[in-house]
Amino acid sequence: MNTQTITMEQAQQLLQKYYGYPDFREGQRRIVSSMLQGTDTLGIMPTGGGKSICYQIPALIYEGLTLVISPLISLMKDQVDALTTAGISAAYINSTLSGKEVNERIRAARQGALKLLYVAPERLELDWFREEMASVRIACVAVDEAHCVSQWGHDFRTSYLAVAPFVNSLPSRPILAAFTATATPEVQEDMVALLQLRQPSVFITGLGRDNLAMSVLRGEDKRDYILNYAATHAHQPGIIYAATRKDVDDLYERLRQSGIPAGRYHAGLSDQERDSSQEAFLYDDIRVMVATNAFGMGIDKSNVRYVIHYNMPKNMEAYVQEAGRAGRDGEPSECILLFSPQDIMTQKFLIEQNPQEGERKHNDYRKLQQMVEYCYSPNCLRWGMLDYFGESHDRTPCGICSSCRDERELVDMTRDAQIVFSCIHRMRERFGVSLVASVLKGSRNKKVLQYGFDTLPTYGMMPRRSEREIAELINALIAEGYLALSEGQYPIVRLQQPAGEVLKGQRQVMLRALEETTRGQNAAA
Ligand code: ADP
Ligand code: ZN
Repeated sequence: MNTQTITMEQAQQLLQKYYGYPDFREGQRRIVSSMLQGTDTLGIMPTGGGKSICYQIPALIYEGLTLVISPLISLMKDQVDALTTAGISAAYINSTLSGKEVNERIRAARQGALKLLYVAPERLELDWFREEMASVRIACVAVDEAHCVSQWGHDFRTSYLAVAPFVNSLPSRPILAAFTATATPEVQEDMVALLQLRQPSVFITGLGRDNLAMSVLRGEDKRDYILNYAATHAHQPGIIYAATRKDVDDLYERLRQSGIPAGRYHAGLSDQERDSSQEAFLYDDIRVMVATNAFGMGIDKSNVRYVIHYNMPKNMEAYVQEAGRAGRDGEPSECILLFSPQDIMTQKFLIEQNPQEGERKHNDYRKLQQMVEYCYSPNCLRWGMLDYFGESHDRTPCGICSSCRDERELVDMTRDAQIVFSCIHRMRERFGVSLVASVLKGSRNKKVLQYGFDTLPTYGMMPRRSEREIAELINALIAEGYLALSEGQYPIVRLQQPAGEVLKGQRQVMLRALEETTRGQNAAA
């Protein structure tokens, strides 16, 4: 037996001994094994995937200290308390401690009495701390929430840039391991480059948790849907995310008026109200939490049975992170996204409100686009998500998402698609979805007339559909890759190669019947 097998056996025994778990999860096993071979490691796992064990177990085996870089003081304390209770020697250093306490902990680290020491990244920027750490034997530096190092990520934090210089300043280079729940290819690249991981092994695991039934619902009356859902799931803990404080307050009031005990959480409330509703939710005194995305970071509640998004989030990273708070215990849970085209406007408004310019803004628009495409995709939503994050999968439909459960038949929409494509072509691929829809509808709005589009042969070719239905059709064609949108605030819709094949009659377009169209047909029948 080689030493590697022996250490993995030892790792498993420690897991049993300190945590009481019989086995690693598949992703954990691969990450722990990589770290025990002394390889720099990047572990990408969804919230609740069990990241902490990935560095805590190696920490028990390494000779020397594992320094954990963690962004939140509250998180640090919870982790250390849990470790101490399990009998593992761990501590944190942060601004809540007195100078004397800090000195004691540093001394303990120097004497080898600590296996894990948690600090915030800001501490690495302090000269005295760097000097103290130079005399500690550091076997490993584990960076939690490592996406914070990237400007492309959703919570960039400058002090994460201090990690690499800190590691380089140590007398002997420790193993560097980074963990996050969110990683698109560009964030991955940033983490490797900016943390200066050396030939790291990268593991992406478990984003598509089998217990989560993902749904995207379009055209619902969102408020009714939520009141109804919360009432019929009254005994199950759930989170409802809304984009604005106003919507949170409104939903919260309505739930309470319907006799559903709900709490709320957003940045406009007092610390006291936020803390008390968070507590009430954690201890199941209230079942439903209505919140903005300010709620959730560092919440460890494993039995959340559903997460409903009242609005589409700004990108897939945010969505997966928030929806991933459902079902951390592995039990069947639902993630429901209530989509409306208005959500796109809201998100664009928020991007415009943001002072950033140039490439970053461009990037925000691109991510928003991908989020919208996910909402219109007729394919398995789990695939959509795994593809987005670059996790490999065997292309078996999940069977439980709203696309997989969608029983509406695929309809031959080739003729309609040809009309759309030829209209876009005649408009010289220079305009957005809504103007194309206006032209197809035969609208006499100012812009249509100003450009003389009322003289195009495709003008008014879809008189029986509403402009909104036509826009939905165009969006479905975008999600299927026949069309693409340019980036930016006013994206232009352009033809893609498959559209050319459709126009030449070489290819059929099969789409799910659009909701409105079905309704229209029923009415006509
Ligand atoms: P993350 O940091 O990735 O959000 P945590 O480390 O907090 O996740 O773990 C999430 C939950 O999964 C915790 O309740 C943890 O105890 C549990 N867990 C982690 N690893 C295992 C395992 N191998 N077997 C069973 N439960 C596990
Ligand atoms: Zn599916």
